Amino acid sequence: MHEFAMAQGIFNTVLETARANDAIEVTEMVIEIGKLAMLNPEQLKFMLGVMCEGEELTKNAEMIIKTVDVEIKCHNCGFEGIGNVDDSDHYAPMILCPECESHRVQVINGKDITVRSISIEKEDDEN
Ligand SMILES: [Zn+2]
Ligand SMILES: [Zn+2]
Repeated sequence: MHEFAMAQGIFNTVLETARANDAIEVTEMVIEIGKLAMLNPEQLKFMLGVMCEGEELTKNAEMIIKTVDVEIKCHNCGFEGIGNVDDSDHYAPMILCPECESHRVQVINGKDITVRSISIEKEDDEN
């Protein structure tokens, strides 16, 4: 269940960042999931939610999950941009060039899961 490991990694990153910035509360986290990250966003969101609820710093945090398109460079026609993804097979999605429909493409972006940003409250922010 790789979603669990991913959720844990994200959770740790959020906590570390929050603590490093003297947060008393994390109000929001924006997470980007590449279309080729090959995990179930709903499962990830659920697991991350459970982890966040169990921690004082993150228990009220809002999770915003964004999907990131797959960027490719086509070795056949030279196209660079958003590729077509056929992900009917969860474990082996196919990527096609939208211009020439070649499979000879290099993936530049869209494989990763990243914590794009977090919003925090600090002690000083309280009026
Ligand atoms: Zn999966
Ligand atoms: Zn092409």
